[in-house]
Amino acid sequence: MELYYDLHIHSCLSPCGDEDMTPANIVGMAAVKGLDVIAVTDHNSCRNCEAALAAGAEYGVLVVPGMEICTAEEVHAVCLFPGLEEAMDFDGLVHACLPPVKNRPEIFGRQQIYDCEDRIREEEPYLLINACRISFDHLWELVRKRKGVMFPAHIDKTANSLISNLGFIPPDSRFTAAELKNLENLHRLRREQPYLERCRIVSNSDAHYLEHINEPELVLEVKERTAAGVVEALL
Ligand SMILES: [Zn+2]
Ligand SMILES: [Zn+2]
Repeated sequence: MELYYDLHIHSCLSPCGDEDMTPANIVGMAAVKGLDVIAVTDHNSCRNCEAALAAGAEYGVLVVPGMEICTAEEVHAVCLFPGLEEAMDFDGLVHACLPPVKNRPEIFGRQQIYDCEDRIREEEPYLLINACRISFDHLWELVRKRKGVMFPAHIDKTANSLISNLGFIPPDSRFTAAELKNLENLHRLRREQPYLERCRIVSNSDAHYLEHINEPELVLEVKERTAAGVVEALL
C-alpha cells in the first residue's frame, strides 16, 4: 500500500524547533493535512517519541520513532526504528556520546520533553545540536543492530550533509535510502554520485514549524502499515 509520508520533523525538543511543535500538535497537524505516516526526528534525541506515538494512536496517524543524529563529522542522518524500545536504546547510546555541554536556552532555545498528556515533563539539560562521537561509517551497523534504518539527511544541502561535509559518498557505505531537500536536484546528484542509483530517494519537510510539515504529495510503498513496515520499505 502507498502511504503519504513526512519522515523528518523536529519537535520542541530540538532547540531550533518552534515551541508550538509539541508532539500532539505535530501529529494533529499531520492528521489535518492527511498524512498517513510521520517520524519525529529531533537532533540527537528520541525523547519526544513516546508522546508522539501516544498522539499517533489517538489521531490515527502512524508515527515512526526516530532521531536526526549529528555524527562526529557533523553529517546529519535520519535514523528510524520499528518501536519505541529500540529507539530509546539508541537514544541512550547517543546521549552518552554527546559532548558535556549544557544547553543555554536563552541562546539556543528550549529543549522540552513532553508527556503523553501534552504537558512539559522536563527539559533536556545537554545541548542536542552538537556533533556526537559516533562516526558516519559506524552508524549503519549501530542502527541495524536495533532493527532500524538510517539514511543521510538533505544530501543536496550545502551544510551538515554527507556530500557537503565529506565531499563524497564513502564507497563502502551500506545505506539504502537517501533524503533530498529538493527533488529537482536528483538528476544532477545521481550523475555526480552513482551510489545513489541503488538508493530509495525520499524527500521530507525537516519542519521546525507546524506550517512547514509536508503536504500529502509523496508516497512510500510499504507492505504493512507499521513502523517496522516503513523501516523495511527503506532497506
Ligand atoms: Zn539536518
Ligand atoms: Zn532536521
